[in-house]
Amino acid sequence: MKSDLVIVYHRQPYEEVEENGKTVLREHSSPNGIVPTLKGFFGQVNRGAWVAWKLAEDTSNPGFEPVIEISDRFGTYSVSRLPLTAEDVRSFYHVTSKEAFWPILHGFKERYNYDPVDWPTFRSVNWAFAEAAAEEASDDAVIWVHDYNLWLVPGYLRQLKPNARICFFHHTPFPSADMFNVLPWRDEILESLLACDSVGFHIPRYAQNFAGVARSLKGTRVSKDEVTLPELCRPGAALNDRVTPLELEVGDRRVAIHTSPVGVNFDYIEQLSATDEVATKIKAIREDLGDCKLVLSVSRTDYTKGNIEQLEAFERLMQRRPELRGKVRLMLVSVGANRNMTAYEEIQQKIEELTGRINGTYGSFEWQPVALISQAIPLAQLVAYYGAADVASITPLADGLNLVASEFCAAQHGEAPGALILSEFAGCAVLLEGAIPVNPFSHGSMDAALDQALAMGPDEAVARMAALRKAARRWDIAGWTKDELAHFEKLRHLNTSENR
Ligand code: UDP
Repeated sequence: MKSDLVIVYHRQPYEEVEENGKTVLREHSSPNGIVPTLKGFFGQVNRGAWVAWKLAEDTSNPGFEPVIEISDRFGTYSVSRLPLTAEDVRSFYHVTSKEAFWPILHGFKERYNYDPVDWPTFRSVNWAFAEAAAEEASDDAVIWVHDYNLWLVPGYLRQLKPNARICFFHHTPFPSADMFNVLPWRDEILESLLACDSVGFHIPRYAQNFAGVARSLKGTRVSKDEVTLPELCRPGAALNDRVTPLELEVGDRRVAIHTSPVGVNFDYIEQLSATDEVATKIKAIREDLGDCKLVLSVSRTDYTKGNIEQLEAFERLMQRRPELRGKVRLMLVSVGANRNMTAYEEIQQKIEELTGRINGTYGSFEWQPVALISQAIPLAQLVAYYGAADVASITPLADGLNLVASEFCAAQHGEAPGALILSEFAGCAVLLEGAIPVNPFSHGSMDAALDQALAMGPDEAVARMAALRKAARRWDIAGWTKDELAHFEKLRHLNTSENR
């Protein structure tokens, strides 16, 4: 049976765990995050399918099933598992996607590494994803491809499934033409994206950048006027955060540009953070802290996340304001996800060195200014730290959206909420009114933001958090799901002959 919604996302929609010597598939424990959010769409269609890769050195192994059927609380759907060798994964994911695309997407030209890229492998892996998706899709299915590591899939799909509604969503920033055009494969990537019926982004600025790239490489016109979306941003947001193009004209076809930020599961996080267990944990953390304030920073270890800048700002705080020594702690959760990659290992090493230097200089036997956590903390525990923190400091240098900032707000349901310092370069800064905005490239801005957050009185904190929670709730996953489903329906009419 063919599917009417095929989700193409590189990761599998469940966790594989070893139990009694056997691999079993287990649903992700948390309904927060992109995989459960996407699976939620299966409850809205007749039949769904998911295409991902699976590490399989020996595909002739008789136990290997390329397509399996899953029945869970989301419904019944198939999962196509593309068997990739470790070398395929290294080349397509760790090298091409993470060493060449990732730095360009986030504006780090100096980190862009083109030499090791094996473009034929990138093409063949993307082709395999497209073939597997086409195999599962009904003729007018929505085939929904996610993220830059699958950039060539839409173009291949258009050849294999000409009448499908092909959609693409970027979970990262999309850079301006002078950055994107660094990529030597820029025309091929753009051609593929323009084969879509819809290309999606978190915020208007990324959508404008994409239209700018299409204009610069192909002279593509915006055929439906750019519109101002006051509802999509906080009051006072810059004009280019409010204006988004709606449609591009590509030959006799149109490509819809869709701007809709993927938020967090607000209700789930709020409920989780209101449990007795979490309350007990918050109390224990606060007791440990005594009269010391807690500044919390949570992210992956990545040069885009501003972890170093965060630590340097904290070091300057200790230097600038000796009266705060012993009175403020930084908990830096920096989770190393890509340990086998040099760029991430370097950052991790720098983080450890800086932490050591701050603790060595300002710490004592009884008190350590920085607590560095490099292991992932399960969400159920993380919410207790969100609840206990006086300040959350989220300072990426570039970030598609950033979920941690919104999760922090969802967890602040008590009477004495914390303050949020938020980088202007996180996508969600466009949405979240009430944060203290910060430019992580400026020492002055980082210092002033920390001072402001630490001095914030209870009335101001309550007022700011009310606004933040309203925005985080407005842009949660329930809203996104509704918006995307309505958009898929509209696409039925986009490229019909009477509309051309
Ligand atoms: N996260 C977690 N435990 C940790 C650190 C992070 O569960 O120790 C989760 C966090 O709750 C959030 C996600 O990882 O849902 C990070 O998402 P975000 O958009 O902030 O950053 P990304 O890593 O996707 O760039």
